[in-house]
Amino acid sequence: MDILRLSSHSEWIRSRESLPKGQRIGFVPTMGALHTGHLALVEQARETCDFVVASIFVNPTQFNNSEDFAAYPLDLENDLLALESAGCSAAYFPSVSEVYPHGAKSRAMDLGGLDTVLEGALRPGHFQGVATVVDRLFDLIQPDVAFFGQKDYQQVKVIERVAALRGGQPHIVACPIVREPHGLAMSSRNRRLSPTQREAAAAIFQALRFAEAELREFPVPPRALKLEMRRIIQESGVLQVESIDFALAHSLRPITDGEAYLDRYPEPVQAFVSAYAGEVRLIDTHRIVAEGHVPDSEV
Ligand code: AMP
Repeated sequence: MDILRLSSHSEWIRSRESLPKGQRIGFVPTMGALHTGHLALVEQARETCDFVVASIFVNPTQFNNSEDFAAYPLDLENDLLALESAGCSAAYFPSVSEVYPHGAKSRAMDLGGLDTVLEGALRPGHFQGVATVVDRLFDLIQPDVAFFGQKDYQQVKVIERVAALRGGQPHIVACPIVREPHGLAMSSRNRRLSPTQREAAAAIFQALRFAEAELREFPVPPRALKLEMRRIIQESGVLQVESIDFALAHSLRPITDGEAYLDRYPEPVQAFVSAYAGEVRLIDTHRIVAEGHVPDSEV
């Protein structure tokens, strides 16, 4: 079936009124330049929802670097084709003035500190921008369920908080990270990588998997582990590490003690890497200590 093209909220209201009563509406917010990772969210949404709306909106308030915003890839016609072939029911691509009728600025939302740690410390204001736009898109679309990728792990936590502030609506589903065959997490920004950079960028996931494998074998302290991870990424000769962080996977409390063994914490541990390939900022994340992990030394 042809995808429904919605360039305004009023079109969505009319379409929604014409749907059979009781349809479960799934929502997949994106910034476009779609790849297989986005389409996997649409596919997951189709499994549990009757009608799936994807939005394409490059949100100005979540960029803390105007050059990054200006360089963000746009590809609306191809995106619509990709969504249609993934079986998405409708695509909503609003104008900035529809999303932000009073000017493009973030609202101050109480995100419980989730917005100021880890990625939030590196990109001040970013998660307030994300929370603001997602809250607004939820108002406009009124979905029953919304689907997000764990590639942006902290973003999922922030959005779960936004949904909680809205009384638990919509229900949030976190979907697995989709990767290139060599391990690089798919991202719209990957389009800006040269073939050499793209190849070298696989080192980020190699470092994350190395950390997971090490911790399965030995209780390595975080400081030493981060040094090893940094070495693996820098050895690519192409990437510059910006940060490597570990945090408790549920509460997102950053682990700051460089010596205390990671399997001593009451929650699983998630690792976060950000690195530059030239001008392009890449992020990735991985569970390095699983729930209920018991180090071999104690078995
Ligand atoms: P973006 O267009 O980058 O804002 O991403 C839109 C949604 O797609 C977000 O929920 C992302 O977490 C998700 N996403 C982006 N890349 C991937 C990926 N490689 N695997 C899974 N989800 C992804």
